[in-house]
Amino acid sequence: MSTKLKYPDSIWYEKENYTAYYTNGKGLIPYEEAEALCKDLPQVEVYMHDSGMLATHNMSCSVCKVKHAVLHNGVFAPCWSCQKEGWVTIRMSKLERKWYEFWK
Ligand SMILES: [Zn+2]
Repeated sequence: MSTKLKYPDSIWYEKENYTAYYTNGKGLIPYEEAEALCKDLPQVEVYMHDSGMLATHNMSCSVCKVKHAVLHNGVFAPCWSCQKEGWVTIRMSKLERKWYEFWK
């Protein structure tokens, strides 16, 4: 039985194929059960065109969670709509980090 059917009161936010749940309260999914459900990552599949110019995939945007991410040089970036809003995927060097970010 799906989590949605088993714990309908747990649903906190739902949009297309993205669902967030409350846990641990009366009638809500126990957190330990949620951890077990989330142990395995979803299967992401990328299909490269033999020209090397095209690729299609099933990775969702990490910002809006409902559109496809954009694959750029092997790294997934936010969807085009979220990029227009200013969202980006970045890798910071240690020199670019603030003093309080060095613990990361
Ligand atoms: Zn997006």
